[in-house]
Amino acid sequence: ADVVPERAVKVDTAPELVPISNRDRVIFPESGQTKGNLADYYAALAPAMLAFAANRPISLVRCPQGRAKQCFFQKHDSGSFGEHVGQVPIREKDGHTEDYLYVKDAAGILTCVQMGTIEFHGWCSRTEDVEKPDRMVIDLDPDEGLDFEDAKRAAKDIRDKLSDLGLVSFAMLSGGKGIHVVVPLRPDHSWAEHADFAERFARALGMSDPERYVATMSKAKRKGRIFIDWLRNQRGSTAVMPYSARARAGAPVAIPITWDELAQFKDAHPFSIGDIDKLLERENSGLLTGWGTAAQSLPKI
Ligand code: ATP
Ligand code: MN
Ligand code: MN
Repeated sequence: ADVVPERAVKVDTAPELVPISNRDRVIFPESGQTKGNLADYYAALAPAMLAFAANRPISLVRCPQGRAKQCFFQKHDSGSFGEHVGQVPIREKDGHTEDYLYVKDAAGILTCVQMGTIEFHGWCSRTEDVEKPDRMVIDLDPDEGLDFEDAKRAAKDIRDKLSDLGLVSFAMLSGGKGIHVVVPLRPDHSWAEHADFAERFARALGMSDPERYVATMSKAKRKGRIFIDWLRNQRGSTAVMPYSARARAGAPVAIPITWDELAQFKDAHPFSIGDIDKLLERENSGLLTGWGTAAQSLPKI
C-alpha cells in the first residue's frame, strides 16, 4: 500500500510563477466560486491534468467576467499569453499556417486561468506531430430527458464493442451531461484513417441498435436517443480535457473514472472545483494509475 503510484501527484512549484489578479472575482455566480478558487483548483490538479493536456494543441473557453457573462472559444494566440504558453504552427485547410496554443506545465495552465480561462479542450494529436492522432474520443451526448443510466449503459456497450476490436478504452465524466470514452492510440495513423474509423464505429453502433443510438448530428434524429458524437475525431476538433473545469453552474469538472466506478455515479458532474482534496485523494490512491494509456493501434476494419 505504500508503493507510490506512477501518476502520484507531485508538488509543483511552478504555479507560484504566475500571479493571479482579481482572486475575489466571482466566476461562478450560482456557487459563489471565485477566480482564486479556480486558480487553486488548477494549481492542485495541474500535474494530473498535464499527463493528458500537455503538448497538445488546445482551445480555451475564456469567460473573463465569469461564466454568466460573455464567453469565447479561443484557438489562436493573440500574442498576449506570454512565456508559459507555447505556440505550434498548424496548416489550415486553405494552406496557410496558424499558431495554435499549447501548454507544457502548470505555469502554462495558470497563465490561461489568469487570462480568464475556465475550460481546456484538446486536439486528439500532440504538438510533436499534429498530423498523427494519439487518442480517439467517443463523445456520448444523450438527448434531453434521457436518464443518465442510459448513457452509462451506452458507454459500457462501446467499451465492449471496442474490446471486441482489440482496443482498451477508458471512461471520463464530462462534467456536463455525457460520458466520453477515450481510446489511447499509437500515433501511427493519419487523420483520415482516424476519423474514418470513428465514423464507421459510430454508424455501426447506430445500425446495431437504432432505437438507442444515432450517429448523425440532425436534431430530429437524436430525439430520445444517444448521439454518438464521432466528430471529435476530425482534424481540428477538440474534446474537453480530463480535469478541466466546466463553465457551467456549480463549477463542475471533467473527471477520469474507472469502469468499475461508473455504476455508482448518478450524473456526469459529481465533482466540482471545490473538491480538490477528494480528487487528489483519488489520484494518489492509485485507482487511476494507467488511465488513458495503452500501447495499441487501430485495427484494420
Ligand atoms: P456534455 O457531456 O455536456 O456533452 P461536452 O464537453 O461533451 O459535454 P459537447 O457539446 O458534446 O460538450 O461538445 C463536445 C466538444 O466540442 C467540446 O468538448 C469541445 O471541445 C467542442 N466544442 C464545444 N464548443 C465549441 C465551440 N464553440 N467551438 C468549437 N468546438 C467546441
Ligand atoms: Mn458531449
Ligand atoms: Mn458532442
